[in-house]
Amino acid sequence: MGEECIFCRIIAGKIPSDVVYQDDRAVVIRDINPQAPKHLLVMPKDHISSLAHTDPGHKELLGHLIGVAREVARSEGLSERGYRVAVNTGREGGQLVPHIHFHLLGGRKLSGALG
Ligand code: 5GP
Ligand code: ZN
Repeated sequence: MGEECIFCRIIAGKIPSDVVYQDDRAVVIRDINPQAPKHLLVMPKDHISSLAHTDPGHKELLGHLIGVAREVARSEGLSERGYRVAVNTGREGGQLVPHIHFHLLGGRKLSGALG
């Protein structure tokens, strides 16, 4: 998948991005088109197309990604005021980039379900 997937290309360093965190399994970048003062994307290094493409074998990885989102939210100063983690999934879920990613949004009052 690597060559066709924009996030795989970012993870491989072939496309520049603002990387705020990475470990052996996860990368966090700043969204190029932020919808809030803080808008980060938490993603696995391995290519997985969407949440719908995960299975019970991904339980540990998904838990890790949520934990990374929590820690990056903390380091970005969002823990006290609050923030949102959202996972757009598939066409009707509004997912444009087919490499699973968790949006971490904060720094303003998010209204309604999707703010
Ligand atoms: P989706 O609609 O798939 O849930 O969200 C994809 C997100 O990726 C969008 O918020 C979009 O702004 C962001 N994005 C798309 N291309 C790039 C890119 O090349 N670099 C960065 N940093 N973000 C991107
Ligand atoms: Zn990918």
